[in-house]
Amino acid sequence: TDGLLAYCRPGFEPELAAELGERAALAGFPGYAKAERNTGFVQFLGVEDGAALASALPWSTLIFARQKLRLLADLPGLDPKDRVGPIMEALGGRGRHGDLWVEHTDSEEGRQLSGLARALGNALRPALRQRGLITEKEDPRLPRLHVLMLAGNHALLASADPKDASPWPLGVPRLRAHADAPSRSSLKLEEALMCLLTDKERDAFLQPGMNAADLGAAPGGWSWVLARRHIRVAAIDNGPMADSAMDTGIIEHIRADGFRWQPPKPLDWMVCDMVESPAKVADRMGTWFREGWCKRSIFNLKLPMKKRWDETRDCLQHFVDKAGRPLTVRAKQLYHDREEITVYAG
Ligand code: SAM
Repeated sequence: TDGLLAYCRPGFEPELAAELGERAALAGFPGYAKAERNTGFVQFLGVEDGAALASALPWSTLIFARQKLRLLADLPGLDPKDRVGPIMEALGGRGRHGDLWVEHTDSEEGRQLSGLARALGNALRPALRQRGLITEKEDPRLPRLHVLMLAGNHALLASADPKDASPWPLGVPRLRAHADAPSRSSLKLEEALMCLLTDKERDAFLQPGMNAADLGAAPGGWSWVLARRHIRVAAIDNGPMADSAMDTGIIEHIRADGFRWQPPKPLDWMVCDMVESPAKVADRMGTWFREGWCKRSIFNLKLPMKKRWDETRDCLQHFVDKAGRPLTVRAKQLYHDREEITVYAG
């Protein structure tokens, strides 16, 4: 077996499969995706050079992949009395790993395997150490071994390059809602800032005294996240803002149409969480950049029911074309994104 293993939000396997297939073909790697709905993962198989394909598709550029791994082995029919033995055998000659994560998928069935995954990790870790297959102490310079439990008797073995993979188990970042946050949506922007920006960028791009607009701001979760960083926000929405947002004292609520309002002077940031067709949002975001109304933006694109990969690709392309200038664009379906993706541009 040579190929990739990627995790996604359950239900988005067809989108991830389409994305991997299209991107791999464009990069000159024929292969095929193997996906089953609601399982939360996709395999990309039939690849001659898995290492080359993996580097052609960096994790950070994959929109629907929460995690991206190199596939090592498929172990169906594991004996529940001895899962460790066959896993060790399959790892022979695969070199040393710097860590071990035993995982399950984020699906209904997957979560029922969490106890087993933990127990298997506890049994496997010392056995792998003894054979020198993983290091005594965690070593992030070496690839990380992933065992994905699909059933009590079925596991996939895979390997992560820690520099080109999600740093969170299951590809899911742990974030806790702040008690004062006006809405749970605040977590979406927090996650976007954490996942779409590097630590350095976050420090440089989010500075006290900056100015932002929040299109479709009510009840104010996103505005509040920015205000907590001492960024002034023009909150555009005809709906009401929560007191906890307005109490920050640096949010100005403007009742207006987010598709028509424009800032009196250029802003550092524009964020947008309006529930509208992705084509309409992408077009308006493009106008903001073409006109130079903001330096950077984080916006959501709500996905339609059908042809969600095609729509994603086309909307992002339209945005870039409309903006008409070189931009860094990063897009991800974040953990807190349901039927939507989040885009950073700047
Ligand atoms: N990000 C917000 C938060 O963190 O609390 C939640 C935003 S909510 C998902 C979408 C908002 O977009 C709604 O409050 C709605 O009133 C607003 N909206 C939709 N279309 C709009 C438009 N054309 N102009 C302004 N606001 C709009």
